[in-house]
Amino acid sequence: MNDIIQLLPDAIANQIAAGEVVQRPASALKELMENAVDAGATNIQVLVKEAGKILIQVIDNGKGMSMTDARMSFERHATSKIRNSDDLFGIRTFGFRGEALASIAAVAQVEMKTRQKGEELGTIIHIEGSEVRKQELTSCSEGTSIAVKNLFYNVPARRNFLKSNPVEMRHLVDEFQRVALAHPEIGFSFIQNDMELFNLSPGKLSQRIVGLFGKSYQGQLVACKEETPHLIISGYIGKPENAKKTRGEQFFFVNNRYIKSSYLNHAVTNAYEGLMGSDMHPFYVLFLEIDPSHIDINVHPTKTEIKFDDERTVYAVVRSAVKQALGAHNVVPTLDFSL
Ligand code: ADP
Ligand code: MG
Repeated sequence: MNDIIQLLPDAIANQIAAGEVVQRPASALKELMENAVDAGATNIQVLVKEAGKILIQVIDNGKGMSMTDARMSFERHATSKIRNSDDLFGIRTFGFRGEALASIAAVAQVEMKTRQKGEELGTIIHIEGSEVRKQELTSCSEGTSIAVKNLFYNVPARRNFLKSNPVEMRHLVDEFQRVALAHPEIGFSFIQNDMELFNLSPGKLSQRIVGLFGKSYQGQLVACKEETPHLIISGYIGKPENAKKTRGEQFFFVNNRYIKSSYLNHAVTNAYEGLMGSDMHPFYVLFLEIDPSHIDINVHPTKTEIKFDDERTVYAVVRSAVKQALGAHNVVPTLDFSL
C-alpha cells in the first residue's frame, strides 16, 4: 500500500482560493469595501496607488476588531457573519464565506490596523503570503484600516496578467461606484496617487448618482417604484433621450448587492421599446428587495450572479415598473425621421 494523499498546507490552500476570489485589484477593493459596510461604517476612504498594483487601502470608521479577531479574520472560513447552514438562506450581509481576507493575505503584503469602540488601544498586524510577520498593540483610530500592498507579489504569472493602469483603474472605479450607489447613506472618498477622484457626502440616492456621474444627470432621472407582495423595486432610470450607444451606467442591486443579469437588463431595455433606438442603452440604478429565501447568491465566489426562484415574475415586474415610470413622466414616443 502506498498512501500519497496529503492535506495542503494553509498557505497553499489560501493561494488557490485566492485565484477565485481575487482576480485583480478591483476584486480586492470590492471585498474590503464590503467588509467596511458590513462593519457598520458611516465613512469609508479608499486610497490606491498605481491602479491598485502598489496599494489598495480602505479605511473605515466601523466597529473594528478585537486583537484575537484581528488575527482570526485572516483565517480561511473564519467569519462573524454566519454561524450555521440555516443562516445561509437569510444572508443580509455582503460577506459570509470568510474567504476574502485569507485569500488577499495569501497573495499580498497586508497591513491592518483596527480598534474597537471604547477600547484604548488597537491592534496592528502584518501578514505576507499568509504568514503573520507582526502583531502588536498600537494606538490608532476607531475602526479598521487595511492596506493591501503589491498584490500578487508572490504569483508572478498573475501579476504579469494585470492590465494597464487605465484598465485596472476602470475596474476599481466600477467596484467603487457599485458599493457607493448601494449605500448613499455612507460617505465615501476615493484617492488615486494623491489625487481625489470622488468625495461623496452621505445623502439621497439621487444625490449619490449626481456625485458619481456628474451634474448633467440632475434633470435626467426618473423615479421608479413598484411593490408587489414578493418584490419591491425602487431607484432611478434615465430618460430615453439620454440613452447612450455604449452600455455603461446600468446597475441592478438585489437586496443591496450588485448583480449582473442580462435577463433583467433585457426586461428594462424592453420597457423602453418604441422610445429609443434598439441599439441604445438607458441609464438605470434599480434596487430589488426580495425575501432572501427566494434567491440563491451562493452561485459564484464573487457573488455577482444570482438565482431567483421565479425568474419570470421578476422579469415581468421589472418591465412593468420601468414602463410605468416612463409613462408617469409623460415620456411619449418621438418619431425620428433621421433614421
Ligand atoms: P466575510 O466577510 O465573508 O465574513 P472576510 O474574510 O472578508 O470574510 O472577513 C472575515 C471577518 O473579519 C469578518 O467576518 C469580520 O468579522 C472581520 N472583518 C473584516 N473586515 C472588517 C472590517 N473592516 N471591520 C470589522 N471587521 C472586519
Ligand atoms: Mg468579507
